[in-house]
Amino acid sequence: MDDPVVIIGSGLAGYAVARELRKLTAERQIIMLSADHGGFYSKPMLSNALATGKTPESIINSNAQKMAEQLNITIRPNTRVVSIDIENCAIKLESDEQLSYGALVLAVGAEQVRLPLQGSGASEIMTVNNVDDYKLFRNSLVGKKKVAIIGAGLIGCEFANDLATAGYEVDVIDIASQPLGRLLPPAAGAYLQSRLESVGVTFHFEASTQAVDRVDNCLCLMLASGKKVEADIILSSVGLTPSIQLAQMAGLDINRGIVVDQLLKTSDDRIYALGDCAEVVGQVLPFVMPITHAARALAATLAGNSTPVRYPAMPVLVKTPACPTVVSPPEANKQGAWQVESGEESVKALYCDDSGNLLGFALLGKVISEKSDLAAKLPAILN
Ligand SMILES: Cc1cc2nc3c(=O)[nH]c(=O)nc-3n(C[C@H](O)[C@H](O)[C@H](O)COP(=O)(O)OP(=O)(O)OC[C@H]3O[C@@H](n4cnc5c(N)ncnc54)[C@H](O)[C@@H]3O)c2cc1C
Repeated sequence: MDDPVVIIGSGLAGYAVARELRKLTAERQIIMLSADHGGFYSKPMLSNALATGKTPESIINSNAQKMAEQLNITIRPNTRVVSIDIENCAIKLESDEQLSYGALVLAVGAEQVRLPLQGSGASEIMTVNNVDDYKLFRNSLVGKKKVAIIGAGLIGCEFANDLATAGYEVDVIDIASQPLGRLLPPAAGAYLQSRLESVGVTFHFEASTQAVDRVDNCLCLMLASGKKVEADIILSSVGLTPSIQLAQMAGLDINRGIVVDQLLKTSDDRIYALGDCAEVVGQVLPFVMPITHAARALAATLAGNSTPVRYPAMPVLVKTPACPTVVSPPEANKQGAWQVESGEESVKALYCDDSGNLLGFALLGKVISEKSDLAAKLPAILN
């Protein structure tokens, strides 16, 4: 029998590969190792769980044992991999145990970026990138009123909408001049801002947080302008950075993420990577749809049929019910300009090149129904 396929990580990427590979081969031994509980859940649900009435416990669909039975794989939860021995095709666990692999899949995700802030309250700033973080966050909300969110990106705006709608007083602080600064043209950013303000969110733009101090029962954010924002809880959502340490220590090629080619192969022939940790042909795309496409291609490759991953355009739905939003940002190196149509109940922004070819779009409000038609006109992200 072949040596096992070992998957490190039980997030959406790890489970997607396991599921797709199992569809192609009933016999191949699959071992999944996870530093966490190993249960299966949809991470995007964390930022609208209050609105959907979910608790951290009810977000987890199935625990590791049930998933192992369902997929007929071995899952070892609470098992951290500490190193990879490329020459001997083996990994070492925290317990010192060694495990051989035939193929190794890195699905180790990303880490929250932490701002280097001064002050006596800086260590109390929370982040949410998994259900365990979310459990702590939800527990800390009990009996509290005011939440400050640092970062008005996708995740910051989603949490702001969810918390404000649930009755919390929410302040959002960002160095940019609008929400979703990297994804929306100014008119669309202003529309999203006004819709979120209408449910009670207060924004502080072009504002850099310098320090966080604990003052009695409250945390006080000191902004560079001298302004102070008080909160019971602070959530930081200033971005994610791919987890590269394991791969780096093993000597694999690293750039922003773990460098892989279109077969999802790292600089070592037996090691693959996908999901938030991977940089696929130069692109780090920390979203669910790229994982779905990558997992299918990788499973086929692991089953003996080398299959490059292809990405169509993959619009992202922003979960802000106060302002339903879909974005499909143009690639950073593509020249073009935004054409914006604003109305009372919507903003439609199309990013086109000089010849009128559509390269990206942002739809807010009623016009989100045009998503599929517009997506069909966009160029593929990876052919
Ligand atoms: C709040 C929130 C909302 C989101 N909403 C959306 C959305 O609406 N749409 C969308 O497309 N995307 C969304 N995303 C992004 C999407 O959820 C992620 O792209 C996706 O879940 C990443 O999955 P992953 O498996 O690559 O990583 P992760 O889920 O981070 O999984 C990494 C796994 O690796 C394990 N691990 C790490 N290191 C080790 C080690 N050394 N040994 C063993 N195990 C290890 C971890 O324990 C974990 O199980 C959201 C993200 C967040 C945080």
